[in-house]
Amino acid sequence: MSSATTATVPDAHGHFGPFGGRYVPETLVHPLQELEDEYFRAQQDPEFQRELSYYLREFVGRPSPLYHSERLTRELGGAKIYLKREDLNHTGAHKINNAMGQILLAKRMGKTRIIAETGAGQHGVATATVSAMFGMKCVIYMGAVDCERQKLNVFRMKMLGADVVPVHAGQKTLKEAVNEAMRDWVTNVRSTHYILGTAYGAHPYPVMVRNFQRIIGDEARRQILEQEERLPDLLIACVGGGSNAIGLFYPFLNDQSVKMLGVEAGGRGILPEQHAARFQGGSLGVLQGTRSYILQDEFGQIQSTHSVSAGLDYAAVGPEHAWLRDLGRVEYSYATDDQALDAFMKLARLEGIIPALESAHAVAACMERAPKLSKDALIIVNLSGRGDKDVAQVADKVGLQMPV
Ligand SMILES: *Cc1c(COP(=O)(O)O)cnc(C)c1O
Repeated sequence: MSSATTATVPDAHGHFGPFGGRYVPETLVHPLQELEDEYFRAQQDPEFQRELSYYLREFVGRPSPLYHSERLTRELGGAKIYLKREDLNHTGAHKINNAMGQILLAKRMGKTRIIAETGAGQHGVATATVSAMFGMKCVIYMGAVDCERQKLNVFRMKMLGADVVPVHAGQKTLKEAVNEAMRDWVTNVRSTHYILGTAYGAHPYPVMVRNFQRIIGDEARRQILEQEERLPDLLIACVGGGSNAIGLFYPFLNDQSVKMLGVEAGGRGILPEQHAARFQGGSLGVLQGTRSYILQDEFGQIQSTHSVSAGLDYAAVGPEHAWLRDLGRVEYSYATDDQALDAFMKLARLEGIIPALESAHAVAACMERAPKLSKDALIIVNLSGRGDKDVAQVADKVGLQMPV
């Protein structure tokens, strides 16, 4: 692809080629336009950028390390592996990069109330955290199934002063939580900003969230040049809505020598309703404000999905990923639940790092690719989050028992 291709997306209406855009009810057209205008003003405002950098450094703990994963590299016997340690951010994942950017924007716009959806609870925790910090009222919508499988994060959000609203509609996971958040926003738009948690939804969310997350790739680029004096050969990241992956990939898109691999949730295997790998069996459609690849049936009904990791368990993928996939710039594969669990345990035992189950999908793909590459090849794996929230679920799956 030419360098012009990535420099000019999205267009003024939020289109990434045939993907993206703004498909919303009438009542949200004006708020989204207001958000777009204010976001692009803030982006050009040195004071806003200074404030954001300050909180990312002093509160979030950036820059996150780019860590040479020595024992995993040796065990796999191929490419040299680096981990981008987003798990070390305050609150334990990359989500806070975006939540911090959006709360500063909400403050600029004079909003006093924050709402968000959450799947694994990491975005809910990040949003509850920045809301507490800036003294804003906070309501988090979360599918009832996700509340159950990510209990620890529900307690964290409540302790931070947020109202957590369990959503009992449909499949009771992320998609339904987004519907409820959008319903709330329509009703309370004057006072309320909706902090959407991934590079998805109506324009300007996909471009705005990407730009708040590109700090991952900007740092990784600088760090690998410092440590290796050259660019990496391969970047690997898991893809839910796609924010941690696009955050890592974006600053490298024009470096033709850098290959990129996005890893979706293969669940129990690529059979209808057993996975959340949108590029395996998904098709073009519109869901929750944007046009992208979606898991849907022949009538356009959204299919149910499955993944061991709540954060990847969503029927649609961010529009920029759909575009990059069609262009052939990024390759997309998947890891199954079992592969992710295996990678989860392996990283814990070899490196002393317990990854989020989402991130374990990227580690699983790395375990497959690294041995096929030569020892002088360089891989960067985005460790999007830590696995504290997942230990009870994994202990149950692998049959660990408490001593009595
Ligand atoms: C939410 C989450 C993801 C998936 O979301 P993206 O927007 O695709 O990054 C991945 N990893 C962790 C740790 C998460 O919390």
